[in-house]
Amino acid sequence: MENPIDTLIIGGGLTGLTVAHFLQKYQPEAKITILEKSSSPGGAIRSFNQDGYLAEWGAHGFLDNVEASRELLADTGLDKEAQKAPLDEFVRYICLNGKLNLIPQNPKKIIRSNLVSLPAKLRVLADLWIKPRREEQTVAAWAAYRFGSSLLPFVDAVLTGTYAGDLNRLSIDAVFPGIRALELEKGSVIRGLLQKRKSARVKQENAPQKKLPAMVSFPQGMGRLPEVLAANKNLLCSVEVKSIHKNGDVWEVRTTDQSYRANSLVLALSVNQSLFFLQSASGMTVEESPLATVPEARIVTIAMGFGETAEIPFGFGYLAPEQEKRFAMGALFSTHMFPGRAPKGHMLLEALVGGRRHPEKLELADDILVQKTYDDLRQLIHLPDPPVFTKVLRPDHGIPQLEIGYPRLLAWRKRLVESNRGLYICGFGWEGIGINDMTKSAKQVAAALAAGIAAKGETEVKGVYF
Ligand SMILES: Cc1cc2nc3c(=O)[nH]c(=O)nc-3n(C[C@H](O)[C@H](O)[C@H](O)COP(=O)(O)OP(=O)(O)OC[C@H]3O[C@@H](n4cnc5c(N)ncnc54)[C@H](O)[C@@H]3O)c2cc1C
Repeated sequence: MENPIDTLIIGGGLTGLTVAHFLQKYQPEAKITILEKSSSPGGAIRSFNQDGYLAEWGAHGFLDNVEASRELLADTGLDKEAQKAPLDEFVRYICLNGKLNLIPQNPKKIIRSNLVSLPAKLRVLADLWIKPRREEQTVAAWAAYRFGSSLLPFVDAVLTGTYAGDLNRLSIDAVFPGIRALELEKGSVIRGLLQKRKSARVKQENAPQKKLPAMVSFPQGMGRLPEVLAANKNLLCSVEVKSIHKNGDVWEVRTTDQSYRANSLVLALSVNQSLFFLQSASGMTVEESPLATVPEARIVTIAMGFGETAEIPFGFGYLAPEQEKRFAMGALFSTHMFPGRAPKGHMLLEALVGGRRHPEKLELADDILVQKTYDDLRQLIHLPDPPVFTKVLRPDHGIPQLEIGYPRLLAWRKRLVESNRGLYICGFGWEGIGINDMTKSAKQVAAALAAGIAAKGETEVKGVYF
């Protein structure tokens, strides 16, 4: 029998490719194989090109404030290609009472702005003395309890823009574990953040004032990222894994027509795909998972090209909280953010429809989706002429929802990994849902693989941006 491969990675999406990248960096001699079921790598990241328009099936970009992503770009030379749209220049809008309002880019500035009434501002300060509730809560219940319900439309917009999710179902403990830990430790989020800021300032006395991060993409679109990462890797596409099995210290992986053996196995899949293998694996120490599957939010992107009569306000785009009862969850003003994504004299706008709260909208035919989206948008933006280009993109990938009960699933995964040597579980949903969450956890997995130890996640306070 052939010697086992050092590391076998299932999944050639961003996570699998990033684990391979960092592991190659830490252990150039390691034998790594990636198995990917699609005919090309990239998973949820894929760009769309037609008639001079460049849109995205999935991710539109990521913020440049995470070390692992910056390192990945620098290692691959992609930092030289990157297109950047800084948050302090490219403003965003929130739809309130049927109108677009310029929204300050972080929670502190929102509270100072006149979008929030004086009594609501004072209510936010109650966070300083309200006792933390230890039980798991939805984001909506938690935010209303700590800061008052006036802030809920803003919280809704953040979670619509990231999870396409429902704040009445998402778990604060899973979505913002760092902020929750700070609250429980210091008794107040505001106090915790102030103390954290003070100690950071003491550490870097003369460090320059931190600027807001920038959104990053590439002239060819986000698809460029997996394309470059996949080069020089032992990546086998169109290979679908059917089962995993632990035989002593070796992992056996069966595909449609072959078996692979490996000393270490990385599941770099979205949560539900991992759960499928973990629940049916044999030879492993595994207790029953607390959740059989995780809900996913699906969206459609309606890409629309407009001519010169369109007056799309400058900035990233807008988000509409559920209370506004609009057809689209929001839209990206793509050609403002990243010029060159439409033919000369034209603009591209990408509207997002559906999400966790409106799966029924995904059932609509393309022409109805386009018409309803245009009717919705023209009430908010001056779009006197209909779009000259339209394309409805229906991604295969849903966004995993970290809802109530999710922390129990994470605890289960921790026990599973600790009791099954050589098993690593990361990917879409486990440590969060954004590209930066994926690169950070993939780098940690690669470091743990190189050190021959189990991977440990870190709970940190993430910035909240619109
Ligand atoms: C619509 C949408 C919009 C998004 N927008 C943003 C954004 O603007 N910014 C941002 O930061 N993030 C965004 N994200 C999230 C981001 O795309 C993900 O964090 C990231 O792509 C996840 O990568 P992954 O490799 O973990 O998972 P995936 O991309 O799901 O990759 C998993 C891979 O495993 C393969 N696979 C599955 N089963 C098997 C099997 N049995 N055998 C072999 N291979 C298998 C799949 O084909 C896939 O290629 C968005 C996601 C979606 C869906």
